[in-house]
Amino acid sequence: MARVGYVWVPSPQHRYLDHPESPERLRGLEAWLQAAGLPLEEVAFDPAPEAAILRVHHSRMWERLQVECQTGPRVIDYAPTYVTPESCTAARRAVGGLLALTEALLSGRFRRAFALVRPPGHHATRTQSMGFCLVNNVAIAAAHALTQGLERVAILDFDAHHGNGTQAIFEDHPQVAFLSLHQWGIYPGTGDLDDAPHARGRIVNVPFPARTGRQGYLRAFEEVVRPWLAAWRPQVLFVSAGFDAHWQDPLTQLGLTARDFADMAGQLAAWADELHMQGVLFTLEGGYHPPAVRLSIQAVFHALAEAPLPDAVYEEATPPFDEPETADLLRQVRALHGF
Ligand SMILES: [Zn+2]
Repeated sequence: MARVGYVWVPSPQHRYLDHPESPERLRGLEAWLQAAGLPLEEVAFDPAPEAAILRVHHSRMWERLQVECQTGPRVIDYAPTYVTPESCTAARRAVGGLLALTEALLSGRFRRAFALVRPPGHHATRTQSMGFCLVNNVAIAAAHALTQGLERVAILDFDAHHGNGTQAIFEDHPQVAFLSLHQWGIYPGTGDLDDAPHARGRIVNVPFPARTGRQGYLRAFEEVVRPWLAAWRPQVLFVSAGFDAHWQDPLTQLGLTARDFADMAGQLAAWADELHMQGVLFTLEGGYHPPAVRLSIQAVFHALAEAPLPDAVYEEATPPFDEPETADLLRQVRALHGF
């Protein structure tokens, strides 16, 4: 088995009425982490220093967010994104957890890690909190990694929604590659096939039709994700791991199961080894069907640890619908980016 580092930042005070981005998403996982029987290693961390956040976000955005937190609880956009008086502290702790895992990977302590954090981050742009995301956790961690002497990093985003914030932050950054697999036509409306024409091969979008499931994702991994990684040769791979592409998710219409997330995670970890990366760091983004999120997270931990998947993963119900053909879409993606 392989050792897996993790941080636990459930942010129980970051909650708002019956909003789906709630602490309920992680309920029960703390006890499971203690008793999982896997070689998991919890990593201690401090809240992120402001300087790390300001490497990615505009200072006026961060100042405004703090005022919004202080005057919360309140909704700050139409997504709706909410803040409470504790939310800025929660965001700093989430980022701090990612920074600690990044440094642990770079020091060689382990090669696989998973940041179980809330609030999520991938929609937040340089100047704007949005889409349930306050600051862009994964972008801040990637920017931090580049200050530690790395030359190239990659961010794979398999959340069901396009990682618009991460893409916008790094669209013109020659050291960061970004690839997003997402459902086309849902929030936030970005992530088209031919986005970022100046960054072919580096900024890649795979906008799947509704109901895409195991076949489409595994095919995309083989035909697009693998050649993208092999060409870019990142030293660290960050993964924006949202579990809202699960077929039971109430906000989206994709068709994955916990087993599929485990298989994707296992492939990424194996490719990270093959390509001699220093490691792969998963961070939680979305996912709004709590039982599906919990089982998917457990499945991913097993895959990263190279342990057999628990029975519950195989006993899970599979989507009660067929998936659409995605071979043409993937052909277009490969042609566009030269894979
Ligand atoms: Zn999402």
